[in-house]
Amino acid sequence: MMNLSSLVQSLRRSLLRIESRLQQAAGWDAQLALALAAPGPGLLPRHDAHLPPQEEQQGPQQPPGLLDSILWMAAPKKRRTIEVNRTRRRADSKLLKVKDNIEPCPECGHLKQKHVLCGFCYEKVCRETAQIRRQISEMEGGPLRAPASETVVLYEGETPSEQDKGKRIVERARKRPAWFS
Ligand SMILES: [Zn+2]
Repeated sequence: MMNLSSLVQSLRRSLLRIESRLQQAAGWDAQLALALAAPGPGLLPRHDAHLPPQEEQQGPQQPPGLLDSILWMAAPKKRRTIEVNRTRRRADSKLLKVKDNIEPCPECGHLKQKHVLCGFCYEKVCRETAQIRRQISEMEGGPLRAPASETVVLYEGETPSEQDKGKRIVERARKRPAWFS
């Protein structure tokens, strides 16, 4: 008799323990679902956004479902064949264009585009100009010593003209290149 009642009591206790654990697990699941679903309605536009918020509050409060927070993106419905893909990729508008506006430079003979300065000639002019600048800075001997008059660059065998009176003269120890006017 005594033995039977103690057995019933222990069974009841274990049943209660299992029940409480099940309730705990169910509560955790509900909390997790709420935490996952809560950010959804706030971030995404809702279909019932035009309704006044009072009706929303008056209605029965149901936890938002997991599927409510999913934003479905557009996706292709059918696979496109490789022929269709290649026709698109190799379309006439996507091929490289053949340039027909190329001509030799009249000065140096390198190929260049018709409407663009010749890069080789431009490089030569840049180098000559840099040398002239270096010579001028050596003549001045330091910064902020440039005279208020204009500067004329004269090459070998050149004499200053009437227009160059009163201008500073920079003499280059070489003949004037044909491409440097
Ligand atoms: Zn050139």
